[in-house]
Amino acid sequence: MSTTAAPLAAVEDPDEQTGVDVVAAERAVADLLRALGRDVTDPHLAETPRRVVAALREMTEPDGFMLTTFPNDSGYEDLVLVRDIPFTSVCEHHLLPFRGVAHVGYLPGERIVGLSKLARVVELFAHDLQVQETLTAQIADHLMHHLAPRGVGVVLQAEHMCMSLRGVRSAGTTTVTSAFRGALRDDDQLRARFAPTAH
Ligand SMILES: [Zn+2]
Repeated sequence: MSTTAAPLAAVEDPDEQTGVDVVAAERAVADLLRALGRDVTDPHLAETPRRVVAALREMTEPDGFMLTTFPNDSGYEDLVLVRDIPFTSVCEHHLLPFRGVAHVGYLPGERIVGLSKLARVVELFAHDLQVQETLTAQIADHLMHHLAPRGVGVVLQAEHMCMSLRGVRSAGTTTVTSAFRGALRDDDQLRARFAPTAH
């Protein structure tokens, strides 16, 4: 068997799992800066393509985790609600962040889940390029599927940089989206407990 040295040139080969081609992405950021009339040889900009790609990857690549559940031995039936879970995601229409809080709750069936895991589910789907409506539904559907509760509710309230910093420049406005599944869909009193936080 021959021992061949690895090629010296940077190989442009997207990561098989994530589909991310870091070399191409950094070159594209440099091209964008040039197209915006910037001098990419300026010392302040020299490392910008690398930093931009690293930041975008951090915000859009999820860390997988197992949603471990436990038997509902005490037969707890009332709503389990975790409010004000902070999250940041990236809007796929503008490549700008949106950030806010999530209120996530469920009506237990046979199983319950560690409370911190509800925050982990929000984080799992927030690390993506998408719109807030999709994120809301993904969290609700994931919990319905993996926890099989009697009902799930997810309310997200977020400020979108694409609204705050540009266009109508409506700083401080929040967008509220909600997804209610199962028994929570038709229960107005329980749904009211997910009301957005006043600010
Ligand atoms: Zn946007």
